Amino acid sequence: MPEHGVARRSMSRRLAALLCLAWAGSALAAAPAGVSDGAATGMPAEPPVLLLPVQGITASDLRDTFGDGRDGGQRGHEAIDILAPTGTPVLAVDDGRIVKLFLSQPGGITVYQFDPSGRFAYYYAHLERYADGLAEGQAVRRGSVLGYVGATGNARADVPHLHFAIFRLGPEKQWWKGEPVNPFPYLGGKPP
Ligand SMILES: [Zn+2]
Repeated sequence: MPEHGVARRSMSRRLAALLCLAWAGSALAAAPAGVSDGAATGMPAEPPVLLLPVQGITASDLRDTFGDGRDGGQRGHEAIDILAPTGTPVLAVDDGRIVKLFLSQPGGITVYQFDPSGRFAYYYAHLERYADGLAEGQAVRRGSVLGYVGATGNARADVPHLHFAIFRLGPEKQWWKGEPVNPFPYLGGKPP
């Protein structure tokens, strides 16, 4: 496996916490305080163990950035930021279907994917561009290339990264609406 030169610099890691502080782009409700994912909700559905969504990144490269910025008066950062050079392939974390290709002010070029059960949405943001031929309604497999890491939307131009989120969907299965789930443990991340 060639070294992809993924950002392992400690400076970049500190910057990661500051990448998406202005994040306010969706109508998603904040996670209930003090409720861990699925623990006290009585909901049986948990996301499966997922593929790392950035090629060349391993679980040990991940930093838990879910909730960063909560002290700033903004809603927390309900996602994980994964630093990687511009153009690094972004991979589907699971089988499923592309439900929306969306250009948003905060997220830039984004993809919303539903899992095969339709219980979870996976959200990939700040892409440089989509994979050739990617289309709404398309079935994808775990590992399919969805696009490429970039810094579109409100990402810092000098710190390209993937902003990746998981939402537990409501009965309406609306791609823009769901309960945020911290992706970190589902990507194999271990608390420090
Ligand atoms: Zn982010």
